[in-house]
Amino acid sequence: MIVQASMKVPRFAGEGRIEWLTREVPEPGPGQLLMRIEANALCGSDRGQFYGGSGVTPGHEAVGVVAAAGPDTASAVGTRGVIYAKDYCGTCRYCRMNMTSQCTERSSVIGFSEHGGYDPYILIAERMLFPIDDAIPAAEATLLLDIMGTGSRAVKRAGMLHPDIRTVLVSGAGPIGLGLLAMAKLLLGEEVPVAVTDFVPYRLELVKRLNGIPILLSETSLEEGLAASGMRGVDVVMDASGKESARRAGLAALNPGGVLVCVGHGEGLSFRAAEELINVEKAVIGSDYFDYGDLEQNMKLFHAHRSYLSQLITHRFPPDRLQEAYRLFFESGQTGKVIIEHGSA
Ligand SMILES: [Zn+2]
Ligand SMILES: [Zn+2]
Repeated sequence: MIVQASMKVPRFAGEGRIEWLTREVPEPGPGQLLMRIEANALCGSDRGQFYGGSGVTPGHEAVGVVAAAGPDTASAVGTRGVIYAKDYCGTCRYCRMNMTSQCTERSSVIGFSEHGGYDPYILIAERMLFPIDDAIPAAEATLLLDIMGTGSRAVKRAGMLHPDIRTVLVSGAGPIGLGLLAMAKLLLGEEVPVAVTDFVPYRLELVKRLNGIPILLSETSLEEGLAASGMRGVDVVMDASGKESARRAGLAALNPGGVLVCVGHGEGLSFRAAEELINVEKAVIGSDYFDYGDLEQNMKLFHAHRSYLSQLITHRFPPDRLQEAYRLFFESGQTGKVIIEHGSA
């Protein structure tokens, strides 16, 4: 594969401005791969970088192809794959407990501590690559990361505490909320009702398409919305909104033994331990990203439900329209998942 000597890269200057610079394409060191990026998905967690600026190129939901391999690697040039955003060692206690996102030995993350997927070429540790076959379009393959990975992780963590999940509520119908909805449907079964709240009608149209039950909070209360669908309480609440008010409403809506999974960052949560937790045996847990090993099962689900999952993607842009893509994503409220496609070299 012919690798260019230099590349055009975006600089996130802050205040929603993106400038373009030229930088040398790096060489892979021992254990590293140089990836030519095919696509990268925009994410709500890039907000701080888009408005506050960033010293490295953002982008942590990347799919690419091996353009060059450093010493001590086994991947062939031309291998395509999704990139697990966090480096991990594979041998520490957390990695062995299937919690590679909590690895104690390595902490670099593409798009945050290293250059990420809006650069045409990036360096990664070889163990971050999860190979995929050539038939899967790059844009759709990005769904294996924060959508399917983060979504499935939260559903599975709820399942560790609740043996009989029959009803689910998701707070917030942004991309993470839609991912939680989709993975709840795929992992718990189509018959399990999943209600999703939001204030934006556009997003709730996407909820309907994904077979969720939309609750428009500007027109109805959570209680009324649940009751209208025959749900008095729910077994699991997954919060993607990051709002304390949504978490508190979710905690109140839980049946005894229910689990509140906090996924969206944002605000805090306070509650009366005796009345709201102990007496009713409820649980409040967090769920962050996912384990590298989760990609294997999610790949199977992806193949089985590809057209269902692809509905999450609503917009695609070339790299030179990155700033416009982010504006639309953060300011319009009228998108699902937005993908930057680098195209083939
Ligand atoms: Zn993300
Ligand atoms: Zn580790």
